[in-house]
Amino acid sequence: MKFVGIVGTNASKSYNRKLLEFMKSHFSEKVDIEILELKGVPMFNESDDQSQSPIIQNFNTKITEADGVIIATPEHNHSVPSALKSILEWLSWNLHPFDGKPVMVVGAAYDMQGSSRAQLHLRQILDAPGVNASVMPGSEFLLGRANEAFDEAGKIKSERTVDFLESCFHRFMRFAKIANLLNVPEDVSFEPGTYEVKAVGHNGDLPMIVEMSSTRIEKIDIDTAGESQGIADVVFTRIPSQIIEGQTLNVDILSGASVTSNGVIDGVAKAVKMAGANPDVLKKRPKAQSAINHGDEEYTADVVVVGAGGAGLAAAASVLQQGKKVIIVEKFPAIGGNTVRTGGPMNAADPEWQRKFAAIPGEGHTIEELAATPEEQVDAEYLADFRIFKQQVADYLRDTKEGKEFLFDSAIFHRMQTYFGGKRNDLQGYSIYGQYDLVKVLTDQALASVKWLEELGVEFDYNEVTMPVGALWRRGHKPVKHEGYAFVAALEQFVRAQGGQILTDTPVKRLIIEADGRVSGVIGTGVAGQTVTVHAPAVVLASGGFGANTQMLKQYNTYWNEIDDDIKTSNSPAITGDGILLGQSAGADLVGMGFSQMMPVSDPQTGALFSGLQVPPQNFVMVNQQGKRFVNEYGSRDQLSIAAINNGGLFYLIADDKIKETAYNTNQAKIDKQVERGTLFRADTLEELAQQIHIDPTTLVDTIAMYNSYVDQGHDPEFGKNAFDLKVAVAPFYATPRKPAVHHTMGGLKIDTQTHVLRESGQIIPGLYAAGEVAGGIHAGNRLGGNSLTDIFTFGRIAGRTAVEEQAVLSKL
Ligand SMILES: Cc1cc2nc3c(=O)[nH]c(=O)nc-3n(C[C@H](O)[C@H](O)[C@H](O)COP(=O)(O)OP(=O)(O)OC[C@H]3O[C@@H](n4cnc5c(N)ncnc54)[C@H](O)[C@@H]3O)c2cc1C
Repeated sequence: MKFVGIVGTNASKSYNRKLLEFMKSHFSEKVDIEILELKGVPMFNESDDQSQSPIIQNFNTKITEADGVIIATPEHNHSVPSALKSILEWLSWNLHPFDGKPVMVVGAAYDMQGSSRAQLHLRQILDAPGVNASVMPGSEFLLGRANEAFDEAGKIKSERTVDFLESCFHRFMRFAKIANLLNVPEDVSFEPGTYEVKAVGHNGDLPMIVEMSSTRIEKIDIDTAGESQGIADVVFTRIPSQIIEGQTLNVDILSGASVTSNGVIDGVAKAVKMAGANPDVLKKRPKAQSAINHGDEEYTADVVVVGAGGAGLAAAASVLQQGKKVIIVEKFPAIGGNTVRTGGPMNAADPEWQRKFAAIPGEGHTIEELAATPEEQVDAEYLADFRIFKQQVADYLRDTKEGKEFLFDSAIFHRMQTYFGGKRNDLQGYSIYGQYDLVKVLTDQALASVKWLEELGVEFDYNEVTMPVGALWRRGHKPVKHEGYAFVAALEQFVRAQGGQILTDTPVKRLIIEADGRVSGVIGTGVAGQTVTVHAPAVVLASGGFGANTQMLKQYNTYWNEIDDDIKTSNSPAITGDGILLGQSAGADLVGMGFSQMMPVSDPQTGALFSGLQVPPQNFVMVNQQGKRFVNEYGSRDQLSIAAINNGGLFYLIADDKIKETAYNTNQAKIDKQVERGTLFRADTLEELAQQIHIDPTTLVDTIAMYNSYVDQGHDPEFGKNAFDLKVAVAPFYATPRKPAVHHTMGGLKIDTQTHVLRESGQIIPGLYAAGEVAGGIHAGNRLGGNSLTDIFTFGRIAGRTAVEEQAVLSKL
């Protein structure tokens, strides 16, 4: 037999280690005991998964292969030492080597009864469902007065104590034999047939059909119509294929799609049960071969891109267009990051197209007001453009006086709005605005980026010019296909078709930095714990911002009075600022890190953006929990968020049957489902609606009557809303509950217009480029809605181009 002995402390001097060493030599003719030490085991931390680190993997493998485990624990404050608790946490979270494993608990301590309370506690821990060890009952061996218990050769002096230890140990050997019989895999047989089950998915039920022969799960069909396209797709292919390959339910859940992953596994487990078999047996089977570590991997490329969101895919596409080899390394199983979650509109001034649309009430007033900004309020770099803009507005107003009420726009107007819209002071009075040269590239290249995306296969809907909340102007190019998925799907298809490689499930952990400071590749960890190294003379960081890292948001925040520990976010959980840390490891400077953006109209429960009725801001009517309007709904995102927070956080978007038709995120079936679930409210009268959301009916009726009168006048004397479309008039009426959640991080790595990452000195870091939300300097204190897509596709494209051009120059030297 082969046992593992765990020394329950990381102290260098330990009587528990002595006890295990004694047991190892004393029982050496009967069993082989290998002693494992806790020194070097990292503190357990859910946010920094170390399950695949060599030390945790060593524990996992040795315990899995052993016939039994002996744990020798000291007692600290009536319990086990924190180092022992940490390894037990690691081995009961993603890994479960203790499951069903026979365990003997022993302990040595200075006091007579020294480790008894720690042993009792340890037994409780080992019994927890995540650990699920088979702990030998009774036979509690405590070595009291441990400091006097051993002779110089490390032998226990007392014969009686040795006799008792022998009797406990013999019992454990018998116990281990019997307990291990329970671990022998059971045969499973199924009642052949086709089983229809429903599993819980992210957006509701997932109907599944599972086909079984008498010995095998043959086929798993999942109806994915209700799930968001792009985000969980990989779950529906990978999990069923691993279940069938390994005939096992021991399948890893996929990062970022845990609800859906568990939904599929639970659904198959249900079908197994219906077919007369025990799913627990399948859960204990080994993983599919394809899910097991097959060794480290090494690649070379001309350019390696970190992150397969919009910026990363654009950078890769641009590298491929120049005939060079690119590899994208992506942290999550599914590509797309935040980009796949977008509502779609991408800002680009295209005056020829926009002038086909009529102006809406209040728009003329908006540009007049902006053009009337006193010049002393305009920063020097922007002044020349501001003067051109003023002239453009004067020309437009002259034209509209002649009766041509068309939608105005220009790249310079876009630039001025990005500048004014992003200019903010933080809590310490520090003032920030978008860096002129970067904002100029963004706004001048925006339309070229739209055309470039079209060449790559993105189709835009030119029948509608739209704007998301906080965009401040109707210049949004919306794809025909489903939201952000349209961009990601087209770029992915292009990248793969041109021979680009995408390594998913591989978070990049560090950059390869040469002695002269040049960056020459990346090192990541693959899905099965293997080390993945990509050597490339150019590295593009495109790993997004840090909206899903509350700790980092709080660490840098200088804009919001407070960021709650439990603040929700609209971001993918992958967006944790990794690229910013990677850049810093190479000496990068950071810019604007204190400024983050809240999305005012987020789901109060999940932080998600696209639940309820999301309509264009000209049709927003926002009321607080007293049923009163509290802000100009056409304002910027931070103005709306601050107003919402000052009004208690939670507020409602009120819509009627006509406004509902302008929503860009939903359809009647989704609306009905949400009303049924109680996440969206609907009533035939405003009074009834008010009652449903616990608002005084008279107040809501008065608020809406007042708002409707402002729509008629095209003027809002209360809050200054200056762009209106529809009144709230046609039943049924709707109320969507909303609350601000973290949405975007404007700060990041300092870059230049060619996307080089810069040091504090302003020097470039050779071989390192950054594009997208990982970079800062553009949006400053507040990003305009729709400007991020413009940013990631413009600078992503530039990053790929610069990286290739510079290599060509270097290779000629
Ligand atoms: C719900 C929602 C709706 C939005 N709607 C709009 C909109 O309509 N218009 C608009 O302009 N903007 C919108 N935005 C903002 C916009 O989506 C983002 O700013 C933009 O997509 C960021 O693109 P990116 O390529 O920089 O990063 P992302 O698209 O977030 O991609 C980053 C990628 O890097 C990966 N990654 C992270 N760390 C690592 C690592 N260590 N190793 C390897 N890979 C890593 C991530 O998994 C991810 O795939 C929206 C954002 C959200 C959250």
